[in-house]
Amino acid sequence: MKAIILEAPKRIRLSFLPTPKRRKNEVLIEPKTVGICGTDVSVYSGNLPVKYPIVLGHEYCAEIVDIDDNIYGLKQNDLVVGEGSWGCGACFFCLHGQFQYCEKQRQLGRTVNGVMSEFATVPGATLHNLPKGISLEEAQSIVTIATGLRAVHRGNVAVGNRLLILGSGHAGLILTQLCRIAGASLVVVTGTRRERLKIARKLGADETVTIDRKSWEDKVKKIFGDEGVDIVIDAAGRRDSLNQAIDFVKRGGTIIEFGTYTSKPDRFEAPQIYKKEITIIGSKGGAFEYEKAIDLVHQKRVKISPLISHRISLKETAEIFKQINEGTRDILRAVIEI
Ligand SMILES: [Zn+2]
Ligand SMILES: [Zn+2]
Repeated sequence: MKAIILEAPKRIRLSFLPTPKRRKNEVLIEPKTVGICGTDVSVYSGNLPVKYPIVLGHEYCAEIVDIDDNIYGLKQNDLVVGEGSWGCGACFFCLHGQFQYCEKQRQLGRTVNGVMSEFATVPGATLHNLPKGISLEEAQSIVTIATGLRAVHRGNVAVGNRLLILGSGHAGLILTQLCRIAGASLVVVTGTRRERLKIARKLGADETVTIDRKSWEDKVKKIFGDEGVDIVIDAAGRRDSLNQAIDFVKRGGTIIEFGTYTSKPDRFEAPQIYKKEITIIGSKGGAFEYEKAIDLVHQKRVKISPLISHRISLKETAEIFKQINEGTRDILRAVIEI
């Protein structure tokens, strides 16, 4: 079978591998669409070290090829979306149903082979049935929606909240929609690319601010006025974004750390956390949110199509990784159609 293999940082190629054999509790799947997310790019660049060589890819939709009868409510030929990671099943956290905290977590495309391939094997318990009415193209974003839902729930985003979202990538634009659905009275999105901010406004952002010159921070403060920002979601994960969030959030406000940091922040304004009584909440993964994420797409509440900027084949994938990493092309969301 064809697969996208990362052999070392930035050494990626389309190769041939034997079709994997499924073990007990596993399902053989045929991935149909796989999204390239920021984490994949961090793995590619070497910022997130992994076990090489590895097949990349963890945000996907697939068809079931081979499965034991009558398990997980699934059967052959079903279309499914799969979770990007799962627990070891034996540690303290896993035994307490908190597999997202498992220290031996299996992560597709990081600790075990991912799904940028013609076939893959995954635990049946990580799969969720895809209802009719959701396209294969939309389905690959459900992992990000689940992750966004976890952030919105952990941060208690509620009716009437005034929110600032730092970052207008695929995740930032999904969070924009989720905050709107949650009933936020004001959603402001910041980012460096105007085209993406235009999409943010179409998807429900009240205002957007382009990070282009010194005055952008004043613009944000002016929009929120004296009342300030109730909740800042850091979906940028830039070196300076946490400090910006600490600066923007109101006294007594909340910061949700959602971005994947690949380098440490330049500075950390710890005294401000005390002075302003800020609550900082980390949110990672989309545990227990998958069914709700599927439902939101099914009910057309979250829109995915406007976020997909590139539809590519496995053959084009290596080149796209290079372009995203080097920033030579503006790629909001590339979806591999296998
Ligand atoms: Zn991801
Ligand atoms: Zn575990």
